[in-house]
Formats: sequence, C-alpha cells, structure tokens
Amino acid sequence: MPLNAVPLNRFHNRALAAPRVRGLLRLLAIGIPAVILAVGCAQERAPEHYRFFALGTEIELTVVEPGRNDPGYVADHIHRRLQVMEEAWHPDGNGELARLNRRLAAGESMEVSPELASLLERGQSLETASEGLFNPAIGGLVRLWGFVTDTTRPRSPPDEEAVRAKTASAPRMADLVIDGTRVGAANPAVEINLGGYAKGYAAAHALDQLREAGIEAAVFNLGGDLVTLGRPDGPRGRLWRIGVRDPRSGEVVASIQVDGGSAVFTSGDYERGFEHDGEFYHHILDPRTGFPAGSVRSVTVVHDDPVLADAAATALFVAGEEGWEGLARRLGVEDVLIIGHRGNAWMTASMADRTMLEESITEAVIR
Ligand code: ADP
Ligand code: MG
Repeated sequence: MPLNAVPLNRFHNRALAAPRVRGLLRLLAIGIPAVILAVGCAQERAPEHYRFFALGTEIELTVVEPGRNDPGYVADHIHRRLQVMEEAWHPDGNGELARLNRRLAAGESMEVSPELASLLERGQSLETASEGLFNPAIGGLVRLWGFVTDTTRPRSPPDEEAVRAKTASAPRMADLVIDGTRVGAANPAVEINLGGYAKGYAAAHALDQLREAGIEAAVFNLGGDLVTLGRPDGPRGRLWRIGVRDPRSGEVVASIQVDGGSAVFTSGDYERGFEHDGEFYHHILDPRTGFPAGSVRSVTVVHDDPVLADAAATALFVAGEEGWEGLARRLGVEDVLIIGHRGNAWMTASMADRTMLEESITEAVIR
C-alpha cells in the first residue's frame, strides 16, 4: 500500500548514508526521517532487530528488553496482521477499501468490517478537528497526481483543469454515511485513501501487541515514523533519543527525547515527490487547492496516540507556516517541530524542552 511508499532502492540508499551527528554513539535503526540515535550502551544483551516490508514501507522492530516472551513470534504476528491491513486497505485491487470506493463512486453503500468502519469514523472526526486539512476522502486527487502505486513515481503534474474539477467536486469524510458497518456516501466524488493515518493505526496495533506479549522495551519503526515502548535502560533509565532528518538532505537535524508509549510521526516532502520544470511536487495535498501543500519542509509530531500523531503531522504540513500553531492547539497536539525551507525550525515550547537541534539549523523560533 502506498501509505508511505518509498521505492525500495531509494530507501536503501538513504539507509546506507550514515548521518553526521555530534556524539553519535551508535546507530541502531535508520529510517526516513526518524531514527533511534543511541541505545543500548548499558545493555547486557544486544538489541534484536526484525525487519519486514508492509504497508508500502520498510518496517523495523528493535527489541531492547524482550521480557518474558519471544519477540520473533510477536514480530511475525504483527507482520501478518499488517499484511492483512495492506491487502484490505490498498486503494487498488480487490481489497475491502478498493471495493468500497467502487461502490461509493456508483452511489451505492457497502457492508464493511467493524475495523474499517471505526477507522473511517476516526477519519471523519480528524477531518472535522483539522478543519478539512486532513481529508482521507481525497483519494481521487491522490490518484490523479499519481501517488497511488507503490512502484512507479509520477514524472509530471496532472492537467490543471482536471485537478480543479476534482477539487470542485469537494469530496469530504463528512459526506460518508456510516450506519454501524454499512458505509455509503452523499457525494460520489468521495474516494477513500488511508495513507495519511493508516501507519498510525498500524503502529498503535503493534504497540498493543508488544505490550500484550510482555515486551518491556522496544521501538517499532515504519519507514521513519515510530512508536516506543518502555525505556532503553529499564523503567528508571534514560529516555529514547530519536533523530529527525531533513527531508531533502537526509541529514539528522534534531534529536528528540521521548518516553515509552510515544509516537513520533513526520510528514515531509521527502517522499514520493518528483521534479518537473524546476518545481518540486510531492504527495501531501492541500484539499482546498488540489495541489501539493508547500510552505514547510517537514512536520514532526510527538503524541501518545499514534493515529492522532500521524494525522496531525499531515494536517499541520498542509496548514504550513501560517496555520500550524493554531491548528496544533485545536487538535490538542502539544509537541510539534517544523523544518522550514530555509533550514530553519519552529517548535512548540513543550517540543523545545525535549529537543536538541543540530548546528545545521540556522534559526529556531519557539512558540
Ligand atoms: P507519509 O506517508 O509520507 O508519512 P503522510 O502521513 O503525511 O505522509 O501521508 C501522506 C499520504 O496521505 C499521501 O500519500 C496520500 O495518500 C494521503 N494524503 C495526501 N494529502 C492528504 C490530506 N490532505 N489529508 C489526508 N490524507 C492525505
Ligand atoms: Mg500522516
């Protein structure tokens, strides 16, 4: 699923490029754009890594303290569960979501799984809370821009007239009519794409599984978005240090300290983008214009709810330089770090308390 679809070769190129970080002890997991910066010096046992590919992205589970259970077994379980999500929620093919989209386009309703129904309901409330900037109903626009397939990247922007027409048809999550598990839409332009928050959902699921299995300290990283469990040196030990990369250069620009049970999600223009006539186009669209949102380079959110962290990062990216602060407040998101196009940063005060910026950040504004 093109949730965060990075072509594999590109991902690996990035992953091999060692970040230059002051005092970097040891690099455990590399993703785009968040990495665990330093773990495990006081560990008796080396951390264990489990890697697999799902939801269009490379996933890595790093287990620092396995507790009483076999982490390999849990990793396997999570892997299989994420594969089921991927099949069900891929916008193409014959999964549940693709079938639902076809029915909605035909003006019909469909019976869906309770899980999808509740995810769609969550999407509705996130759309409302974000004043429409987070809008998973714009799947038609995402498709028009060519950001749906996992394997190919578009080379040129779509016809402007087509973008305007799709935008004018105003698909919104609020158009969905959800009655228990029956889902219809008041607007046939609605096409659901879960790419903006499915990774958050998957991360929440993984965290539940890890907790249930008695794993005590771990990081679950989905292509650079991650959740933490416990602390690397035990309950009274230090916090996790998470590195955030500049989306363009790949360099680590900030390190954020987080406790267990935190989600660190970043939306940036780093992925699935393409250049055309000197313009850079990427996969986060402003539902108001139908075009990629462009005023900032990346938004990182820390929150204990991975779904909110994921959706908020996307919404705040769309809100951009002018709108992020007010929207963060309304979304109930306290920890926000934004990297701007000038290599500058904005942070909330609470994020600033836990963040160390690298020297490459020339200017930082704390709000
Ligand atoms: P990433 O997957 O790179 O971490 P996001 O979480 O921001 O990035 O999700 C981007 C994906 O969400 C896009 O690929 C697209 O499928 C979908 N999307 C794009 N714009 C929006 C939007 N305004 N609201 C909700 N989903 C969006
Ligand atoms: Mg998101």
